[in-house]
Amino acid sequence: MSDDRAVATVSLEAKSPFELRVGLADGVPESDVRAALASGDMGFLHSFTTGATVDGPGVRVVAWTAGCMWRCLYCHNPDTWRMSNGLPVTVSRAAEELRKYRRGLQVMKGGFTLSGGEPLMQHRFAVKLFAAAKEMGIHTALDTNGYYGHKLSDAELDLIDLVLLDLKAWDDERHRRLTGVDPASTRDFAQRLATRKRPVWVRYVLVPGLTDDPGEIAAVARFAASLGNVARVDVLPFHQMGKYKWEKLGIPYTLADTEPATHEQIEPAIAAFRAAGLVAY
Ligand code: SF4
Repeated sequence: MSDDRAVATVSLEAKSPFELRVGLADGVPESDVRAALASGDMGFLHSFTTGATVDGPGVRVVAWTAGCMWRCLYCHNPDTWRMSNGLPVTVSRAAEELRKYRRGLQVMKGGFTLSGGEPLMQHRFAVKLFAAAKEMGIHTALDTNGYYGHKLSDAELDLIDLVLLDLKAWDDERHRRLTGVDPASTRDFAQRLATRKRPVWVRYVLVPGLTDDPGEIAAVARFAASLGNVARVDVLPFHQMGKYKWEKLGIPYTLADTEPATHEQIEPAIAAFRAAGLVAY
């Protein structure tokens, strides 16, 4: 696919990840998609935002990838599950966009975060984008569920300054119920990052009635603390900003009646992580 065709569909200008986007790559032949995934020369982005302050240190430019193999009950971006809902973007086009913010990111001690969806569904593209960012002297962060961490070589891992790792539950059965998959791959990736002493921020989404069990949180906290490379934990309150997407996409949403997590529910979870010796917010 030529660069022109890749960027013709929709502008790469900053979009909110909460904006519903579907079918942006529907016209892309399957063979082009396969070739793009193999080479990493083209990726599929749901959106591209600037000014984020919660996806890594400082002010961030965030590229949100399309494609995720998990099916989290609380996912607020189910439109990112299908890669074909993303905008086909060449790596050079994405890097060119990032370059616009280079100086500002350096001044504000921020950087570039690749989020999703699950970015490692497109791990070749992710690696090329991180390499481009590093060449520009931009701090890099990967927001991932860790499932495909094994696809990155040690040298490729070194292109990533910070991994934002989602630990969604401890108990295997609970994790499967919550995400549709077993947690083993994520924990293996966490251990590998620890062995290589790569900085990690853990993210834990607190869903009332699902992930607020004190024993469960304590187990995640013990594991995170045992790694030795977790610089920070963010307890993220469940919210309903993605509810309308489930409805629009016609996907049964089991949490429609679940209330957003309150400050009173979040605080004990933060305290549990701190009690394990971690810096938590
Ligand atoms: S891993 Fe993230 S993008 Fe994938 S289903 Fe879960 S919350 Fe959604």
